[in-house]
Amino acid sequence: MKKHNFSAGPCILPQEVFKEASQAILDFNNSGLSILEISHRSADFVSVMDEAQSLALELLDLKDKGYKALFLQGGASTQFLMIAYNLLEKKAAYLNTGTWSSKAIKEAKLFGEIVEVASSKDKNFNYIPKSYSIPDDVDYFHCTSNNTIFGTQMKEFPTTSKPLVCDMSSDIFSRTLDFSKFDIIYAGAQKNMGPAGTTLVIVKEDILGKVSREIPSMMSYSTHISKDSMFNTPAVYAVYVSMLTLRWIKAKGGIKAMEELNNKKADLLYSEIDRNPLFKGFAAREDRSAMNATFNLTDESHKETFDKMWKGAGVNGLNGHRSVGGYRASMYNALSLESVQVVVDLMQDLEKKVK
Ligand SMILES: *Cc1c(COP(=O)(O)O)cnc(C)c1O
Repeated sequence: MKKHNFSAGPCILPQEVFKEASQAILDFNNSGLSILEISHRSADFVSVMDEAQSLALELLDLKDKGYKALFLQGGASTQFLMIAYNLLEKKAAYLNTGTWSSKAIKEAKLFGEIVEVASSKDKNFNYIPKSYSIPDDVDYFHCTSNNTIFGTQMKEFPTTSKPLVCDMSSDIFSRTLDFSKFDIIYAGAQKNMGPAGTTLVIVKEDILGKVSREIPSMMSYSTHISKDSMFNTPAVYAVYVSMLTLRWIKAKGGIKAMEELNNKKADLLYSEIDRNPLFKGFAAREDRSAMNATFNLTDESHKETFDKMWKGAGVNGLNGHRSVGGYRASMYNALSLESVQVVVDLMQDLEKKVK
C-alpha cells in the first residue's frame, strides 16, 4: 500500500513521475538503452538538460530576464560556500532564521566579514525577524525563504539595492513570488523538485565577475554557465527526474496551481492544530510555513498512542526534527489534500480516545 509520505526530504514526488522515471531506467525514449547508461553528451540527455533549465526559468517567470538556470551537484550546502566564493569581496549581510541560515553564515565567514542583520535564535527560530536594515556597504544579502526544520516561512522579502540571494530549497515552485527581485535562487532538488543529487541554481548573470579572487573552475558560476551545466558529468538521473517533475508542475497549471493546493493543505492542518486542545503549533502564526508544519502535543503522555495511530494508518515521516521535537508534516507539491485529511482525522480520533 502506498503510504502518506510527510517526509521532509528526500520526499514525496508525483506518482506519475515515479512511473515514467522507472520506465526510463529500463528503456529511455525507446532507445534500447537505460537512462543510467547513456552519455551525458548524447542528444537525448542534452535535450533533457535543456528542457529542465528552460522549464525552471519558465515556471518562475524568469525567461529572457538575464537569468541562467544551472543543475549542479554538492547540494544546497555547497551553495553556502559558492555564493560567498563568487560574490563576497569584503562584507555580506545574512538573516539568520535557522539551522540552514546558520550553516550558510558559517561558510561565508571563510571569505569575508558577515553582518548578521537579525536572528530568531532567541526563541529557537520559531519566528521570522522583521525589523532589520541591510547596511549600504555589503556585497549582497542572503536569506532562507522557508525554514524546513522550524516550520517558518518568509512571506515578505526586503527591498534592497543589494543583490538578493535566497535559499529556497524547501519551497521552490510551491508559491508565486516576484522572482525577478532575486539575483540568486538556489535549491537542493530533494525537497520539492526531484531526487537528491542535484541542486538548482538560478543566477542573474550581471552580478558575476565582481570579486577579485581567483575562483576554482568547479566553484565558479561562470564556468557552469559557459558549459550549460555540463562542465563535468551532471547528475544525469536526478536532473531527468527533476525535469519530469517540472513538466508535471507545468501540466497541473504551474506554481499558481501548486500554491492554491498548498494553501488548502496548510489551512486544513493548521485549523486542526489550532482547534484541537491536544496539539499546539510551534511556529509563530504569521510566519507559519505552508510547506513544513511543526507542532507538538500539549501533553507528551499521549505520544506513544498517537505515534502508534499514525504509523498504523500508513503515514510516514511525521516525526519532528530533533531540534524542535513533536511533529512535522511536510506538505510538498506532490502531497495530496487527502493525505493531510488522514492526519487531521487521526488528530481528531486521538482527541476522542483520550477524553
Ligand atoms: C535541506 C536543506 C538544505 C541542505 O541541503 P543539502 O542539499 O542536503 O545540502 C539547505 N537549506 C535548506 C532550506 C534545506 O531545507
